[in-house]
Amino acid sequence: MIIKSLAVFLDYAVIYTIEFQKRGLPHAHILVFLCSEFRVVHPNNIDKIICAEIPNKEREPRLYDIVSTLMIHGPCGDQRQGSPCMFNGKCTKYFPKKFVDSTVIDSEGYPVYRRRDNGVFIKKGDAFVDNRYVVPYNRTLLLKYNAHINVEWCNQSRSIKYLFKYVNKGHDRVTATFYNTSDESYDEIKMYYDCRYLSACEAIWRIFSFDINYREPSVDRLGFHLEGEEPVVFEDHEDLEDVINKPHVRDTKFLAWMEANKIYSEARDLTYSEFPLKFVWKASERKWTPRKQGQSIGRYTML
Ligand SMILES: [Zn+2]
Repeated sequence: MIIKSLAVFLDYAVIYTIEFQKRGLPHAHILVFLCSEFRVVHPNNIDKIICAEIPNKEREPRLYDIVSTLMIHGPCGDQRQGSPCMFNGKCTKYFPKKFVDSTVIDSEGYPVYRRRDNGVFIKKGDAFVDNRYVVPYNRTLLLKYNAHINVEWCNQSRSIKYLFKYVNKGHDRVTATFYNTSDESYDEIKMYYDCRYLSACEAIWRIFSFDINYREPSVDRLGFHLEGEEPVVFEDHEDLEDVINKPHVRDTKFLAWMEANKIYSEARDLTYSEFPLKFVWKASERKWTPRKQGQSIGRYTML
């Protein structure tokens, strides 16, 4: 629902999440939807933004240094079977890629970036890597930030769904084991704990209350229900009669949407999922009111 709404109604959107690994710096996974006038549809235009080749060492020495230090995968495959990305003799990230003369979009809708067999290579320890090992990058971003920034083009809804799943995946966990060496009869099961792992980086990030997730525009969850089957949330200790007699207990977003349609004529041109584009949900008043600024998109959820 999000993807459909984005494609139809919005000019741009961005979503990101910060992922903390067990060590090292945090990773940002950023998904950007471009305005229709800037949308890249032709493979030739992909080449202007994304490159998967080793830069010319003489012409662009700084970019060459950054790419060879930060944007080379592995080495793995036949040159280094012991690389952490290898599983059952194959690279789990599908490197080395194939040499390709020009960027194409394959039959599945995935981009295959240009990686010319031009004899250019970089020596990494005792291994030699060529264009097949370059992680796709954007020249301007690398020169500006001098950091590992992988830039990919995605258009197919399948890859977008995958990214959404990826940007929403859960926290890192560790299984910790504790041994009491002085006690012979320790309970093995009790000794294992599934722990949430918090690195120093993440601790600082949270202390400063930096965003872990960000969405622009925001997404409104739109519940729906059958007549007389509004969900009611209450605390364990509350008296059920009091709960039912609360003034706004029956004013769900769904029913309030119907009420708003009675009041505002412009509301009648919008479906329920389009509603957050032009109306704002006021939780305290349990009412939809015409939106004055910004925008939001709707997503249906079963209550
Ligand atoms: Zn690999």
